[in-house]
Amino acid sequence: MSQCALCKIDSNLCDSHIVPEFVFKGLYDENHRFMGVTGTGNKGWKYLQKGIREKLLCQNCEQFINEKYEIPFQNEWLNKQTFPDKVSESYFAKYDYAVLKLFHLSVLFRASVSTLPTFRQVSLGKHQEIIRQLLLSRDPGKLDQYPIVAFAVLNNIKEVEKRLITMPLATKVDGHTVYAQVFCGVMWWISVSSHTNRFFQEAGLRESGAITFISIPWSEIGVMQEAKNALNRSHH
Ligand SMILES: [Zn+2]
Repeated sequence: MSQCALCKIDSNLCDSHIVPEFVFKGLYDENHRFMGVTGTGNKGWKYLQKGIREKLLCQNCEQFINEKYEIPFQNEWLNKQTFPDKVSESYFAKYDYAVLKLFHLSVLFRASVSTLPTFRQVSLGKHQEIIRQLLLSRDPGKLDQYPIVAFAVLNNIKEVEKRLITMPLATKVDGHTVYAQVFCGVMWWISVSSHTNRFFQEAGLRESGAITFISIPWSEIGVMQEAKNALNRSHH
């Protein structure tokens, strides 16, 4: 018996995924998996292996996260509105704000409570408890709480690179801690800060669910600043 990371009740814990398995869907041949995306410019990024698990959640919370956060995101992202294979400068879409936000917070929370070296960069500090409460109460939070910015990641043949899945990285953007992870063809940034991150609020996911994905070549996202510059260019 150990304490569940989400409900904090002592239980027999499940072998919980930190990043859900469905993001690995469609990764067919390991040898070709990163074709066209390796090379220069991706320093600091490490590929995430499939099937990483840790005893984190009780049966109830495991099911809760799956039903309330993973399946809705999957429906929204993979089934309802398929992300395009080609994106020129940018791609505008509308999703369910709560579904997108809570899914990402659920992955970030699991990465933070994980003791595995793969997720060592994610350490939410006092925000871990705030996010735990948001997840338990199914509250996506306000726009200025943990805003999300997203980029469509293009490979060297200018297609959205949906096979690329990375470990989360921590960085600083304008003095705010930002966690970045690539999966589903997108580099997702979540700002975790006690102060309002105006840039993220303006460039990121809106409460209406509207979001603009700015294209960025994989070879250029080694440095976060490059991505931010691309966003700036598109917004001015
Ligand atoms: Zn639990």
